[in-house]
Amino acid sequence: MPQTPSLFRTPTALAMLGLAAAAAPLALVGCEDTQREVELRAAEAMGGIATRVVASRSEGQGGHSADFIQIPVEVRKLGDFIYQARGVANTQVIATSQGHVVFDTGLAIQAAKQRRLLREALPEAPITHVILSHSHQDHAGGTRFWVEDGTEVVAHREYPEEQRYLKQLEDYFWFRNRTLFPFMPESPPKTGMFAYGNVVPTQLVDQPNRLEFSQGGVHFVVLPTPGAEGSDNLCLWLPDEKVLFSGDSFGPNFPQFPNVFTMRGEKIRKPIEYIASLEMLIELEPEMIVPSHQDPIRGKEQIRADLIKMRDAVRYVHDATVAGMNAGKTVHELMAEIALPTELELLQIHGKVSWAVKSIWEYYATWFHFDSTTELYAVPLSAVQPELAALAGVDAIAEKAAAHVAAGENLEALHLLEVSLAGDPSHRASLETRLEALANLLHRAETTFNNSYEMDFLKYRIRVTKEALGAGS
Ligand SMILES: [Zn+2]
Repeated sequence: MPQTPSLFRTPTALAMLGLAAAAAPLALVGCEDTQREVELRAAEAMGGIATRVVASRSEGQGGHSADFIQIPVEVRKLGDFIYQARGVANTQVIATSQGHVVFDTGLAIQAAKQRRLLREALPEAPITHVILSHSHQDHAGGTRFWVEDGTEVVAHREYPEEQRYLKQLEDYFWFRNRTLFPFMPESPPKTGMFAYGNVVPTQLVDQPNRLEFSQGGVHFVVLPTPGAEGSDNLCLWLPDEKVLFSGDSFGPNFPQFPNVFTMRGEKIRKPIEYIASLEMLIELEPEMIVPSHQDPIRGKEQIRADLIKMRDAVRYVHDATVAGMNAGKTVHELMAEIALPTELELLQIHGKVSWAVKSIWEYYATWFHFDSTTELYAVPLSAVQPELAALAGVDAIAEKAAAHVAAGENLEALHLLEVSLAGDPSHRASLETRLEALANLLHRAETTFNNSYEMDFLKYRIRVTKEALGAGS
């Protein structure tokens, strides 16, 4: 799941921030517990407003990401001592007589409410551990609300570095995410309770070592499982109960073809590491998986079959890409050719096979594709597109593009339209043809893999094109 919104800079939300700031001096005269109580109440009130703003902005937008904000924040019991607070991302608590273990802390704006509801449902006991599945905001956002004196904050050894770059590039990634998810606030909160990037782990776990401990009669195993949503992924395993808390190790759906890399950006994810992580999880033979998005999955045999399918699908795409590279095929040939065989077919709502092919290709070959000398230098094709448009004439190019669209060649049309629109950005026939090509691609996406990122990007391009048409009328 992407880094989802963490605060909405609406006037109302800002007013609430002001209220919280005003409450702070009062808190100073009270004891530490009172301060914490004030902060938690403010966080819940502000977070509730922010959640409602996002939910109302996302209504009618469609898409899987918009659906997540509609999930109610409520607590359910998944076993004798396993509690979960639902939301955009789930927060889990394993309750023991010697203290509680928290796995993931949810999206910052929902975390204070999740914590209060869980606290009301749980027996009174200290929080001994907060275990974070990875550094994405929707999994670590509420950490500060849970940590008490003596709480261990457990994360992967790569967590601090992942958090460092996500924070340093926060504006860049925010812009990309907001392009896909326009219901997000205009900018990220840089300070305050909802700001990203302030988690300080007290205990780091790194493969091949596991962290094991027993507490109140429950045995806990923290497993490093890099490669899924980043190199800092962890899972929590309860071997006696055969319950696996998977964080985002499988992405937001199970089973599915994973996001080997994400088109939103972020650092590379290593396909072979991910296959190894899946191997380890298959060996555990879980009877229940509790992911940090959506609902738990039960049934040992089906879970095993699905995990094997995911592993084999990633391996298949990896091996086919490598074979194609060695055979001298281009990345585009491989993107078009490689498809999962029937027995390995999986949902491609989140990850997409053709994008995995491209990212595995680039993972090994990196940025220089050996296709053109110009790739080595800072003058892109767009530098000469206006000249091409002038040579061919924008009307003629638009006409040719329309013929491609009529023949079902929407990508060929879009290439040509980049040229004509470089020559005349408000050329109406070009914009109308672009709109048609994008609508065709969106229809194809909806009726094939239903990939959320592909559809979100196409919707963004459709919005931009409609705006340009509106501005020109
Ligand atoms: Zn997530």
